Amino acid sequence: AFYDEALRAEFVARTTMRRELEAAIGAGDIVVHFQPLTDSETLEVVALEALARWRRHGELVLPKEWLPLAEETGLIVEIGRQVFTAAREASERYELPVAVNVSARQLDEADFVRQVEQSWGPGAWHRLTIEVTESALLHDQAHAREALATLAARGVRIALDDFGTGYNSLARLGDLPVHVIKVDQAFVRASGTPEGDAVLRAVLAVARAHGLEVVAEGVERAEELTTLVGMGVGVVQGFMLGRPAPTLPIRGRRPAPRLVGRPTAAVPVQRLAPAATA
Ligand code: C2E
Ligand code: MG
Ligand code: MG
Repeated sequence: AFYDEALRAEFVARTTMRRELEAAIGAGDIVVHFQPLTDSETLEVVALEALARWRRHGELVLPKEWLPLAEETGLIVEIGRQVFTAAREASERYELPVAVNVSARQLDEADFVRQVEQSWGPGAWHRLTIEVTESALLHDQAHAREALATLAARGVRIALDDFGTGYNSLARLGDLPVHVIKVDQAFVRASGTPEGDAVLRAVLAVARAHGLEVVAEGVERAEELTTLVGMGVGVVQGFMLGRPAPTLPIRGRRPAPRLVGRPTAAVPVQRLAPAATA
């Protein structure tokens, strides 16, 4: 009896959440925050990543709480449309490229390309990056690849998110229609030890061998940034460089005024680090 009660409670909770999420989508309570992607040496913001939040009972709920349900129910498709539209607006407002995350459930839609065209709007394709995970590409390989290839042919860039956490990633990289890999924050966190640095270097070597650009995710500490710069990672993202926020974070697009006039290449990363938390 206890087991049944637990199951029933879970069912009720899910049904309630589903109803609330659906209502939130209609009421404009799915909001989009933007996190900067930063040049690792100049600390200039070079792009933004759009990250969805659910404004629920006065709180912002992170995707891990509702994304699985949104995917199972297909509500992610409508959420995705809203995120693409918000991403386009931000891209124009800040004159920056913007990255949008897409789940397997969205890629599997027969008319995914048309949905992106409608929600992103005409043109400016070179300003858009679509972030997918390896598992999303595995889902329905032929359809997903075709959709991504169609968009890539227009200038959209494809990024492989959470790189290194998926199954068999290194072996399959060459077959995937991607331009950028986003090195998962687990590798960044492990940097600074001989073993961690070795793994990071190996991941970077594979990416470079395939001619891919690299973005490191989840950079939180100055030492991590120093390591990444030392390994030649050009673009970094993480709380240290800027948290996701409804508007473009404080740093803006240009280096802080007190850095102007210094030759970029000669600025040691260690000295720049305090500015990152300013
Ligand atoms: P992701 O695409 O890998 O996004 C990076 C996640 O790491 C974000 O979590 C971001 O807030 C967080 N993050 C960034 N810098 C740091 C850091 O320095 N330290 C730590 N600990 N975390 C950091 P968030 O916003 O909660 O999103 C989680 C995941 O949900 C995303 O992972 C993405 O896969 C998914 N997601 C977010 N928005 C959307 C969306 O609009 N559509 C779809 N389909 N998925 C989304
Ligand atoms: Mg992402
Ligand atoms: Mg990621």
